[in-house]
Order: sequence, then structure tokens, then C-alpha cells
Amino acid sequence: MAARALRGVGAAPGIAAGKVHQLDGAQIETPGAPVPPPGRAAELKRASGALEEAALEVERLSARLESEGRTEEAEILATGAMMARDPQLATGVAELILQRGLNAGTAIAEAIETHAAALAALDEPMLASRADDVRSLGRRAMRLAVGGVVDTVDLDSDDVIVIARELGPADVAELRPAVKGLALAGGGVTAHAAIVARSLGLPMVVGLGEDILAVPEGEALIVDGSSGVVEIRPGRDSLDRAGVASERRARAMDRAVAEKDLSTVTTDGHPVLVRGNASGAAEVAAALGWGADGIGLFRTELAFLDAAAWPTHEQHRQALAPAFALLRGSVATVRLLDFGGDKTPPFLEGTPLRGVQLLLEAPQALKAQLAAILEVAAGVQLRILVPMITEPAQLRAVRDVLQRCLAEVHAAGLAPPMPPLGAMVEVPAAATMAPEIAAVADFLSVGTNDLSQLQLGIERSASRRAAAHHPAVLRLVDMAVRAGHQRGISVSLCGESASDRLVMPLFVGLGVDELSVGASRVGAVRGWLRRLSYAAARDAATAALCASSLEEVDGVVEPLARLLEPV
Ligand code: PEP
Ligand code: MG
Repeated sequence: MAARALRGVGAAPGIAAGKVHQLDGAQIETPGAPVPPPGRAAELKRASGALEEAALEVERLSARLESEGRTEEAEILATGAMMARDPQLATGVAELILQRGLNAGTAIAEAIETHAAALAALDEPMLASRADDVRSLGRRAMRLAVGGVVDTVDLDSDDVIVIARELGPADVAELRPAVKGLALAGGGVTAHAAIVARSLGLPMVVGLGEDILAVPEGEALIVDGSSGVVEIRPGRDSLDRAGVASERRARAMDRAVAEKDLSTVTTDGHPVLVRGNASGAAEVAAALGWGADGIGLFRTELAFLDAAAWPTHEQHRQALAPAFALLRGSVATVRLLDFGGDKTPPFLEGTPLRGVQLLLEAPQALKAQLAAILEVAAGVQLRILVPMITEPAQLRAVRDVLQRCLAEVHAAGLAPPMPPLGAMVEVPAAATMAPEIAAVADFLSVGTNDLSQLQLGIERSASRRAAAHHPAVLRLVDMAVRAGHQRGISVSLCGESASDRLVMPLFVGLGVDELSVGASRVGAVRGWLRRLSYAAARDAATAALCASSLEEVDGVVEPLARLLEPV
């Protein structure tokens, strides 16, 4: 059979080559004849025991991650254990066994699928993504029901690529360290399994379709989690290229750790700060570990996407305290809740508003968050960032509430200083209004994720990514940088593109003062900056601003980006 490529969606970057291990293949009970009524009670006991054992296994994995300081991943797994003990699931399994005589494995499979399908049908992406977690738990229980152990790859083998229909976060956490890459028929980029894979640095491609499940056990495979391509039975050349790429990546990571205390200045002496994006303590710890200069974007809304009501003062305190504990003496840029759009919790379902618009309609909720932030920020260099600003009046309104909160916190005996208040520039309107917004802001932070999509008319949920280096987007970034600098305030860039080798030099050339990037990207971006010439970046940015197409910008920046490739 000749080499063949399948295209999916890259969910965790990096490249890995290895031999296939199909996770879903063995040890699943098939339906068979109905269990006779006298044997059904024992069958139910077998099924319940398997579900409980699955819960215990997931809890043990969760405890292991917790002890390694991976609190967020541990919490995701703990939720999985709770699902195994869901009374609705138990009732479903009992009915299938006692009334229809299904065997334990088949009953678990059917009940789990009903549960997962109900979740998948929800119009809320975060809840729908839990369907993967439920199915993964079901697979675990089904294997246990037939007395099997959960599939583990050969731990003596270094290079294993796991293929599965879907994976839950527990599966991903458990596969480490034997597995080098993951290729899934289904799955989503924002599913929890992908979040865990990214944080563990495991290359992962999702959405490959049924074809990937037909690849035989032991077949050679390359997973490219950056391009989203999987190569089946690759030739010698491809294997060599993959080997070189992954060795380079490993070397680059080692170097980034070794150089984490060096300052981030370009080859011609221009300083640019590199901070981390985070939404919890684990990411803060990872970003600081890679040498981040504090946190440039703390997304507070991600902790509350399942919320049934506006988070309370106490809930905000609890969500922030573990992250702030790691940030004493460092910058913590906390963004106020950016609900709406693809981050709409159930209680706001159907809202057409987003970010600051929602906050200003719920002044008590805004006050609760601001007061909590001020109270837990002792010792932290706090900055507060307001999402989705479109005009200066919104920032003034938030500042008024902040000042009132500060007075109340002072009256209660605490003495935090007034923190700098910044505006996100992530809507084209904010870039257009940048001079007026900069006049009332203490700093600006450009969010190219929303800005590019809104400027170029591409849905945020589309798998196609809107290019942040399109001249139409770069001109908006330029407007923001100029407006900020005219007012003498710093301008940060915190969209995903800040850690894209092809785009980052342009932002530096446009004059951004700070780049804030995903925790696992901090080391790489710091290294790139130290290899970049500011003069060359400025020339590239000037040419890119005058370009009339994306392709033209590609041509301008590619030679510069090539110089940043790991060696
Ligand atoms: C952005 O839009 O670039 C940004 C950083 O905000 P988020 O991705 O959280 O919407
Ligand atoms: Mg945004």
C-alpha cells in the first residue's frame, strides 16, 4: 500500500511519528442473546461495579495530576468521575438490563450513548463537548465489565500514535508518557481532551473521519498537529523529515527552558515583553515556568461557562485566588468577564450582547467581580482589562464602578492601589476610535482573534482561521499602536497570532510593547524575539501595511519568519 494522507484539524501543535495503536479495538462486549430473567440482577451488579471501578480509576488519575500541580486537568477528570455516578445513567443501565435483558457491556454502551447524544445536541459548545468525556468513560466501564483492563499501549515502545474515535481527557492523561501523538476520527479543537493534549505538548489531530479507524494496528503513521494532516504508511523521506522536526522541537523546548531568565530584546536591542495568557493556576504556573513576564491576559469567563447565574463575589474570589497566589510580585492582567458569542453560559442564552455591553447591563455582577479582584490581588501588580470595548464611554463607566468598589474595599480596611484600567481593541470600531479610547485608558491590548474575524467577515466558529496578517487587520493594529503611543500608554497584543512565527515579527515591527501568548508558547516566542532584528521587522511591517493582499504580506514576512525557525 502506498503512502496516504488524511486531513483533519490540528488540535495540539507538533509533529510525531510512530506505530498505530487503535484504542477502541479490543475488549468490548458484543450484544449476544438476551440475559434470562434470573440472571439479570447479577448482570446489573456487574454493570454497576464496572461503572464504579471506572469512576475510581478516573479519580486516581485525577489525584495523580493534582499531585503534579495540574489542578485544572485534575478538575476536568474529577467531573468525569462524577458522570460515572450520575443517577440518570444508573437508572438507564438498570432499565436496559432488568427489562430488556441486555448484557452489562451493551447496556452501558447504550445508556452512555443516550446520555452523550443528549449532551451533543445542546446548543452550548462547552456542554456539547462533554459528550466526548461521557463516551470515553463508557468505553472504560465497558472494558472493565468484561474483566479487561483499560487499554494501555506497550510502555516499552517509545513511539506510539493512538487512534480512537474520540478520547476523553482521562484517556489522554493516562496515555502519557508512552504515547507520542493522537489521531481522532471525531473530537473538537476546544474539547477537554484537546486542552489536556495541548498542555502536555502531545501533537493531536481531530476530525479525521471514519477512515482513520481502518488503519491497521502497528501501521506507521505521522501526526502533524500543526497542519492537521496525518500521513499513513509514510515513505522514508517523510519519516526522516518528521524525525528531524520533532527533534528540533525538543531541542527548541530544552533551549527555551535554559534561556528563560534571559531578557527579551531583539538582536538590535529593542525590548518587547512576553507575557502569558491563562485562565487558571496551571497555565499561570506553566507560563511563569517558561519565563513569562507575568500574565498579559487572564480570561476570567472560562471558569464560568457552565454558570446558571452571574458569578458571585465569593465565586470570583475562589476562582482567582490560586492563580494570584503564584503571581505575587508579577503583573496580572485580569480581563473582566467576556460572556457572549461562543462564550455564552446557559443563563445568558440567546443574548445578542457581548463583553462590556453585558457587564454594563448587570452592574451588580460587574461590582461583584471588581470587588473580588481588588480584594485578592494583594502583592500582585494588578491590571484590569475590559473586553469588547467599542467607545470611550464604556471604559469611563467601568472606571466609575471601579472607583466606587475601591472606596468600599478601603472602607473595609484593605488598601489596594487603583489598578491601571485597559481596553481590549478587538472590534474594528475600537481601532477606529482608538485615539478617543486611548485618551481614557491606561493601556491597550489588541485581540486579533476577534479583530481579524470581525474585520474579514469570518465566523469565529469556522475551522478556517482568519488571517491576522491580512493588510486590512494590520492597519487596525497600526491604528491602535499609534493611538496608544501618542498618549504614552503601552500597547499589548494578546491574540493567538502573537505566537505565530509568520505574524509576530509584523506586530513587533508595528511597535507593540508586549506580546501575550498561550502558556506553552511563551518559551518559543521569547526565543524568536532574541533572534529577530527590529529594523528588519519594521521594514516588513511598513511594506505589509501598503500591501493589497494576504499573499503579498506572506511574501514580505516569510524570509523573516524563516530566520526564526528552530535550528
Ligand atoms: C482576542 O479576541 O484576540 C482575545 C484575546 O480574546 P478571546 O480570544 O478571549 O476572545
Ligand atoms: Mg476576544
